[in-house]
Amino acid sequence: MLDVKVNLYECFHCKGEGTCSSGENGNSCASCIKRNELKGSTFYGLLCGSCGGIGKAEPLTERMNKRLAPMLAIILVVSLLALIFWAAFANSTHFSELLAFSSAIIGSVAGFYFSGKGNGT
Ligand SMILES: [Zn+2]
Ligand SMILES: [Zn+2]
Repeated sequence: MLDVKVNLYECFHCKGEGTCSSGENGNSCASCIKRNELKGSTFYGLLCGSCGGIGKAEPLTERMNKRLAPMLAIILVVSLLALIFWAAFANSTHFSELLAFSSAIIGSVAGFYFSGKGNGT
């Protein structure tokens, strides 16, 4: 697959350099010294603790989405199914609307996950 989306952004901490120079006088900052497990206060050109020295990082929201979206989808589907069962047992007058509504959502969620991830992308 060549159309890989570039979701990476330049690391805000090292400005894409890969080494931290956000401390005083261009030295590495205290948190990066800590992350590199070094003792002392003056280091220069340490690996950036935010991106691990790559200079590029995935947006946090992107990472959150990747983890949260499947969770939310599962929660959504389960709660909708529970709602359908509840409506069926309670003999709700809105059962048919609820069923149509829920199956549309479940269908699109399932379609999204099974068609999008089924072919190795
Ligand atoms: Zn960085
Ligand atoms: Zn730093």
